[in-house]
Amino acid sequence: MKTVYLKRGKDESLRRFHPWVFSGAINRFSEEPEEGEIVEVYTCENEYIATGHYQIGSIMVRVLSFDHETIDQAFYRKRLSIALDVRKSIGIVGGDNNTFRLVHGEGDNLPGLVIDVYGKTAVMQAHSVGMHTDRFVIAKALKEAMPELENIFYKSETTLPYKAELGQENGFLLGGSTEDIALENGLKFHVDWLKGQKTGFFVDQRNNRDLLQKYSKGRKVLNMFCYTGGFSFYAMRGGAELVHSVDSSQKAIDLTNANVELNFPGDKRHKAFAEDAFKFLDNMEDGQYDLIVLDPPAFAKHKDALRNALKGYTRLNKKAFDKIQPGGILFTFSCSQAVNKDQFRTAVFTAAASAGRKVRILHQLHQPADHPINIYHPEGEYLKGLVLYVE
Ligand code: SAH
Repeated sequence: MKTVYLKRGKDESLRRFHPWVFSGAINRFSEEPEEGEIVEVYTCENEYIATGHYQIGSIMVRVLSFDHETIDQAFYRKRLSIALDVRKSIGIVGGDNNTFRLVHGEGDNLPGLVIDVYGKTAVMQAHSVGMHTDRFVIAKALKEAMPELENIFYKSETTLPYKAELGQENGFLLGGSTEDIALENGLKFHVDWLKGQKTGFFVDQRNNRDLLQKYSKGRKVLNMFCYTGGFSFYAMRGGAELVHSVDSSQKAIDLTNANVELNFPGDKRHKAFAEDAFKFLDNMEDGQYDLIVLDPPAFAKHKDALRNALKGYTRLNKKAFDKIQPGGILFTFSCSQAVNKDQFRTAVFTAAASAGRKVRILHQLHQPADHPINIYHPEGEYLKGLVLYVE
């Protein structure tokens, strides 16, 4: 096996189980590896440290194991079974929920891999060349770990590094069903893994949607950036007086309408609008809504976009603070990994201050337990939210 030798002193973070080797830490290779190849990492004193996937870029090795083991189907099966056991042991799988994230990259000690499960279908995404290379072995291991699965859809078109020129692809590794109905806390969703964003659905807002339901009774709810409408039907189930869903994508609006129909057929409380969120907020009347959800796409995909992203969050939240009815509740989120929770809170603070509203923080929200953060890899924290009472 090809070996990566580190520079002197560059083994420290790996000894604390941080799962990445940066290019600057590497001294030499026994032989130049192919992208996606499994390599072993050694210190300059020739001591074994880790095994992982090699890739050209600033993160050169993504560590799969610190235990000098073979990376094969049995290895993946073991890791997947542990991930499943974690979810089962905390009650995420089963009952009125058949939708969950099975693998959350580094959080499940499988850097570069995401797997979401919707009933009998798993949607698998590779974010690294190594996971792409291993996709068939992983699919076999997954079927072993979860024999009840009928479909495994591989969806890496938008997540693989562009430069690797892998001929990014989507396709079935098992089965072939193109649509299914997923169940989240007893609510039904069409999931479109062929064409939908991410793996077809945003699994990470489950708990936050549940909280919103509790605050919806008798309220006029605006669900901004609704995508498949998740927050909207929780609000309806919570007894909202009316629910308006907004997304700039017509396709998202069609999905939202279909999902509302699935759960609340013929319910006149809901309306959906294919419009730009910023324009919609500018044009709406003061006090038209007393519960607003802002769940925009990541404004900062990279650290260098941070300053503009923070301005974007301030601008968006200010518009909501300007218009929300006194006594209203704002659920506001950021899913940008590059924005930490203090920075996000400061951006929202700036918005509240410039709108001149009195604001109380009721809850500080985050990603759910099926999107765990590896304690040695704080970079895995991405979703943060605030629930605010606006006087
Ligand atoms: N809240 C959703 C997930 C939101 S994903 C859920 O719970 O599932 C972000 C959404 O924002 C996408 O559907 C995207 O189409 C939409 N979007 C992006 N830019 C937008 C804009 N300027 N105005 C309105 N919607 C936008």
